[in-house]
Amino acid sequence: MSTALPVPVLPLSAPASRSHARPPAHEAGRLARRLRHQVGRAIADFGMIEDGDRVMVCLSGGKDSYTMLDILLQLQSRAPVKFELVAVNLDQKQPDFPAHVLPQYLESIGVQYTILEQDTYSVVTRVVPEGKTMCSLCSRLRRGALYTHAEQQGFTKIALGHHRDDLVATFFLNLFFHAKLSGMPPKLLSDDGKHVVIRPLAYVREEDIAAYAQARQFPIIPCNLCGSQENLQRKQVMKMMDAWERESPGRIETISRALGDIRPSQLSDPALFDFLSLGARGDAPLSDTGAWLAGDPGDSNG
Ligand code: SF4
Repeated sequence: MSTALPVPVLPLSAPASRSHARPPAHEAGRLARRLRHQVGRAIADFGMIEDGDRVMVCLSGGKDSYTMLDILLQLQSRAPVKFELVAVNLDQKQPDFPAHVLPQYLESIGVQYTILEQDTYSVVTRVVPEGKTMCSLCSRLRRGALYTHAEQQGFTKIALGHHRDDLVATFFLNLFFHAKLSGMPPKLLSDDGKHVVIRPLAYVREEDIAAYAQARQFPIIPCNLCGSQENLQRKQVMKMMDAWERESPGRIETISRALGDIRPSQLSDPALFDFLSLGARGDAPLSDTGAWLAGDPGDSNG
């Protein structure tokens, strides 16, 4: 299902269909300005959106993707370049998924959208043993469906709603459980080279997104309708980050900034920095690696 309508910018006094207390209007206005500034900066820093881009905005019904769409719409009307935004949701056929919520919301704000339908829920529940987390397979299937749609429709960018805290958490997951210094980049070329994925919320704190979603009263659809438990490793990392932030406020922001200020010569990856040539005199030949392994405990003759 798809509609093509003009794209208005919503005022901050969106319909109050939920009972949560909202922050006062001046605070909500300040928050909206901060989010626009941070998203605008991420777009500029990473060249996320160019003139003529067709951006597929992936909308799950969670607070992050609602906020991403909302801020992108606000920036679209004042951006220095022209680009198209289309919201796309994948209905994965989870039990009790309220299929009317997103179409109703998107029509109310006049955004062009498509709802895709694919029963990944049945696949995941069939394949993943009971009690195990289903999120990884579920996300892979979702990504596959969305990428296929993006290719068929000729979208030039795919926007995902991951935020600053997701980027930091992924960095620690890779560090602690995969012995890798790598994370979730703000801009990424898909493995098959066909898609450019952008994360416009890369600089935005989750806490701010939660407050913004509340201020805007987005009709949130929970992502646990499937009954899946959160991945244990991720839970551990989130707990650690929460404790850090409580004990040392600002630490997550410091780590987030560090992810954008990497000094390969101060780390230990010879593939990233040419340590071999560093300080080499040039007149002496580099010795063969094997010659240095004489004392290797793995050498049975040693
Ligand atoms: S919580 Fe459920 S719907 Fe959300 S990613 Fe995990 S398995 Fe998929």
